[in-house]
Amino acid sequence: MAKNIAIDGPAGAGKSTIAKRIAKELGMIYVDTGAMYRAMGLFFHRQGIDPQDEAAIGREAENAQVTIRYENGQQQVYLNGENVTARLRTEEAGQMASRVSVYPAVRRKLVWLQQQMAASQDVVMDGRDIGTVVLPKADLKVYLTADSRVRAMRRVGELREKGQECDLQEIERDIIERDYQDMHREESPLRQAEDAVLVDTSQMDIDQAVQAVVRLFQERVL
Ligand code: C5P
Repeated sequence: MAKNIAIDGPAGAGKSTIAKRIAKELGMIYVDTGAMYRAMGLFFHRQGIDPQDEAAIGREAENAQVTIRYENGQQQVYLNGENVTARLRTEEAGQMASRVSVYPAVRRKLVWLQQQMAASQDVVMDGRDIGTVVLPKADLKVYLTADSRVRAMRRVGELREKGQECDLQEIERDIIERDYQDMHREESPLRQAEDAVLVDTSQMDIDQAVQAVVRLFQERVL
């Protein structure tokens, strides 16, 4: 049986950085489900579809083919045959993803794909509904969070490293708004699964957070 680790939590908690490192350490595959929702958001944006227009999203969702491939060990996201990975990590793409991820037509499609990936291989999967909906039987579930100011400061650090100027308060506002949308939607809201372990990284660096989860996996699963 494939081993699965589910990592959920709010925006900017460091899920993808930490999950990627855990996967490497444990010899598992990292699946970034947020990137799939971002690709769907990009698709609707390119089609000129208003994210409020549920009927149009429902109609068009079947025309978006999101596929995941691994090239040199890195996840690459393809949208209808085009590699869109480099376009997905912007604040706008995150907001767009959050707006379209409320719709069942979008979620059904991606959840199915995610479940297929986890059934056949050992994965560390991160997102918002992995422990609650996608992999309810995951071997280990982690709810990774941090104080919103700490998360905003980390995001600002990443953006500045890439040479992008940004405003801490604006980033924190965006993060809080996106968390609110993700936690209060009807369909698969972000919440901690009952059997998930809470890991608060406000006072941890990346190494400490990675080691905390690896230890949990060794204690509970191996
Ligand atoms: O994790 P990331 O910031 O890339 O996710 C972008 C958005 O996609 C989230 O704010 C959330 O609305 C949506 N998402 C989701 N379910 C997931 C992963 C992401 O609804 N499993």
